[in-house]
This record gives sequence, structure tokens and C-alpha cells, in this order.
Amino acid sequence: MDIYQLVDHICSGYVPNINEIEQLLNSCEPETSYIFNAAHNIALKYCSNKIHIRGIIEFSNYCRCSCAYCGLNAENQELKRYRMDPQEIIHVAREAWDAGYRTIVLQSGEDLWYTREKISFIIKGIKTIGDIAVTLSVGERDYEDYRQWKQDGADRFLLKHETINRKLYNRLHPHSALENRILCLWELKELKYQTGSGFMIGLPDQTPKDIAEDILFLKKLDVDMAGIGPFIPHKGTTLRDNPAGRDAMSLKALAVTRLILKTVHLPATTALLTLDGEGARKAFTVGANVIMLKLESYKYRRLYEIYPKEFGEENNIKQERLKIEQFIESMGKEVAKNRGDSLKGKERLWQNE
Ligand code: SF4
Repeated sequence: MDIYQLVDHICSGYVPNINEIEQLLNSCEPETSYIFNAAHNIALKYCSNKIHIRGIIEFSNYCRCSCAYCGLNAENQELKRYRMDPQEIIHVAREAWDAGYRTIVLQSGEDLWYTREKISFIIKGIKTIGDIAVTLSVGERDYEDYRQWKQDGADRFLLKHETINRKLYNRLHPHSALENRILCLWELKELKYQTGSGFMIGLPDQTPKDIAEDILFLKKLDVDMAGIGPFIPHKGTTLRDNPAGRDAMSLKALAVTRLILKTVHLPATTALLTLDGEGARKAFTVGANVIMLKLESYKYRRLYEIYPKEFGEENNIKQERLKIEQFIESMGKEVAKNRGDSLKGKERLWQNE
């Protein structure tokens, strides 16, 4: 089967095998443009022309982990650490609600200072603001923590698997094992969280076959959301001298994921935007339908550096949202006004929104 036939076949519901996914990832022009167009059409058909804006509060840069690619790793002594007070987090969420946000993502390093009870307090506080979805992204925790937070009203959980290649995963995460991460993901699914995972492109020694395996893992897990972005070296890590991932491969991985997991929420990740200012625009033409904007004040943002990035001019939450709404409309897209819950099993419902 050539690439054109393969893409048409996948659009009609066929799930490709690992070699076929690798074939797509290794494509060159004009086949690549055909893949990108097909992915964009699938996004329009299954997710509509709307882009969801999620507000993310990076509330602590303390982390007990030693991920080899991350500037927040526990060994990085150069980094000034911060923690936001639970009341302050709820206050920022309220401002975001007033600015039009209907999803708040609570993200931090793995910081056990935020006990089960503290996170419960934050979730419940945000839930009193209005009909707002709460997504947690706080790493590997006990099953009982996950269970309690779901009961408190958390809707979604993001836990990227980063790479499904066991050898590579264990080398990059000396403090933990891939089995643990996979176990946590299945627990989150069992607890009925809308679950997100994802992976990085351009890790040292990663091959297109590894990326194909990553996409198949997302399919097996049947995720509701997937974050895919390039590896970007950070000076405070052991991988500081490695080259960044290529955005061409990141876009192909995004597009192929859209072809296979048709209703998945796919953000134009900030790492992708970091490599190339046009990254978001490109990502939205190959299947992305979500963008995340930081909400915490700049004094914290500058210290939440998983990979190095630029920080624009200081603005307030409302102004920043307006700017991104204008950007979305300039691409001929619409801004979603609802919570943007999982689209799985609701393929036709968006037309009635
Ligand atoms: S990637 Fe996450 S878990 Fe790993 S060091 Fe960074 S903040 Fe911690």
C-alpha cells in the first residue's frame, strides 16, 4: 500500500501497524502534505473548527524526581524554588473564570508538600467558582490520592509517558520505572478520569519506530488527550548538550496521532511553540485543537522552566486570553466557549453545541 492509500484507509477507521506508522513518520513531500491535510480534515470532522483554550496554573516548581531532560529536576541547585499558597491558586482560578476560562489545569513538579488534603482543598475551592473542569498534572501519586481527588471533583488527569521504550525511559528517569508510570495511567483510567498522556520527540537514541510505538500506546490506552512536543535541552540538566528535537517530526507525529485517535484533544504544546514562533499556526493545520495558556503571575512563570523559553511582555489574564482569541480567529478558527470535555463517543454532538 502506498502512503496515499494508507492515509485514506486510516481515515476510514483502519488502525495501522507499527511498520505502517513508521512509514508515515518517514514520509517526505508531497506525501507529508497529504498526511497533514488529511489530519486537518479529520480534526474538522471529529472535533469541529473550534480551538479550546485551557488555563494552566504551574503552582510549584519543587520536584522529587530526576528526569534527565527537565530543568526542574531535584538535582538542579541553581533554580530558585517556589510554592503557591492554596488560597492564591484558587484566587488565580477565579480570575481565569472571569476571563472566560472553563478548564483549569493544575500542574506542578512531584511535590509532596501538597498533601492529599491540600490538593483536595484546592479542587473543592475551584469547583465552587462555577462549572469549570479541573485537570490535574501532578505526577505519580498513590491510588488513594487519585481516588480522593476524583471524588472531590477533579475531571481530568495528565500524565505523559514520555517514551514507551523501556530502556530509554529508565535511563531518562533514574528515580522510577516505566512500569510505575503505566500502572498509574491504568489506575487513572479505572477511576474514570478523562486521561491524557503523551511523549517527546528527539530524545537521544530515539528512533521513528519508538515514536510509532508511542502512538500505538496512546491508542491502546484510549486517551482523551495527548501532549506531543519536541525535546528541548536545558542547561540545568545532563542532556544540556544534546540537540533539540526536530519540529518537522513533531508535526508528523501530531498529524499521525490525529489520523489514528480521531477525537483526541491535541494541544499545540508550548515546546513546539518554543522551537518555532509559527509552531502554533502549523500545529493547528495538522490536527491540533487545544492551546494552553499560563495563568500564574510572571514572578512564578520565569521559575517554571522545564525547558528554556522566552517570556513575552507582562500582561494580565484577561488581556492574554484576548490576544490568543484574536490569534485563533485570524486563522479562520473559532474559540470554544465550553469546558471542552472528552469527545470520545460524542463524534456528532459538537454540531449541536
Ligand atoms: S518532568 Fe516533571 S517529574 Fe520530571 S523532573 Fe520535571 S517536573 Fe519533575
